[in-house]
Amino acid sequence: MTAPRLDINLSKIHHNASVLVDKLAQRGISVTGVTKAVLGSPDIVNTLLSAGVSSLGDARIENIEAMRRQYVTAPIMLIRSPMLSQVDEVVRQADLSFNTELAVITQLSHAAREAKLTHGVVLMVELGDLREGILPADLPSTVRTVLRLPNIHFRGIGANLACHSGVSPDADNMAAFSALADSIEANFGSIELVSGGNSANLNWALSGAKTGKINNLRLGESILLGCETLCRQKIEGLYTDAFTLVAEVIEAKIKPTRPWGHIAQTAFPSVTPAAYPDGNRLRAILALGHQDVDPLGLKAPPGLRLLGASGDHLIIDSDTDSLVVGAEITFGLTYSALIRAMTSPFIAKVMQAGAVKNTLSQKTECHPAIRA
Ligand SMILES: *Cc1c(COP(=O)(O)O)cnc(C)c1O
Repeated sequence: MTAPRLDINLSKIHHNASVLVDKLAQRGISVTGVTKAVLGSPDIVNTLLSAGVSSLGDARIENIEAMRRQYVTAPIMLIRSPMLSQVDEVVRQADLSFNTELAVITQLSHAAREAKLTHGVVLMVELGDLREGILPADLPSTVRTVLRLPNIHFRGIGANLACHSGVSPDADNMAAFSALADSIEANFGSIELVSGGNSANLNWALSGAKTGKINNLRLGESILLGCETLCRQKIEGLYTDAFTLVAEVIEAKIKPTRPWGHIAQTAFPSVTPAAYPDGNRLRAILALGHQDVDPLGLKAPPGLRLLGASGDHLIIDSDTDSLVVGAEITFGLTYSALIRAMTSPFIAKVMQAGAVKNTLSQKTECHPAIRA
């Protein structure tokens, strides 16, 4: 079969999404399926929709356009603040967008008026992670201005934690966010969407803590990779191996464990190589590199270890001498490895729709994210 390739098990993605949709429905929370990691892939989008997500979210207008070209009619939200240079596409392709800047919302209003459309706006609120968001003190005046803009429909408020500073969603900051929703409703009338966060919110949402006004979460990684994202723990009952990356061996030789010659810089930062005693071991090269994937986000099968990577070579050490040229090696992936592999034109994406072989009981692990 073609290599390198991502084998994508749609049944496992469907299972993960429907388990989370059902659990959160019991807490009064709808799920927006976040598609940015999979570039709006129609097979995966249809899988998410059939599992019951209430809408789709993506950070990039190009992915939203790709979904619309594939006749996806479900509500789609742009979950990153639109660029001023893209407002015309945004009002045509997205039902609503997440916003923090009045300059952008004003231009969305002009673009929507020109296109004879109404565009939904969710205002993102800063809760301490210091990525996107309006400071809570500035929220009421911003809402007042947005409500006056023609062809703009104020749909609600959103928050996003754990993405930049690693601030965890917890009972305190979620209660504060819910209280903000209360005060906006008291002053300006009821709001439809109170979107509390992403996969990092699952521990909070499923803990039994009060959800208050929060009625939506936007989930990507937890559906695709089966883990929560604060400690990268496997979520009970979900598959962590819906995606696997298969690469092919192009060289397999017994070589000395130590390089020789004068050592200077390499092309890419090296993976800390395991310390082997002087001697000879089997090392293999796979046709895969930084241009395809984040090598630090690959989890090698037992008996194999990643020694390093360059633009298009991945070097691995093997405990046995049985690896041969042409062999295929299957890796697990972190989110960081997944997004790069999905985006690489050199990696085939192979959708497997068949029945799910039950690997739920196997001891699969989530792969720790590498944080810079
Ligand atoms: C990426 C993103 C999400 C989804 O995050 P996951 O950790 O993949 O669940 C949700 N909201 C916003 C604003 C995002 O950028």
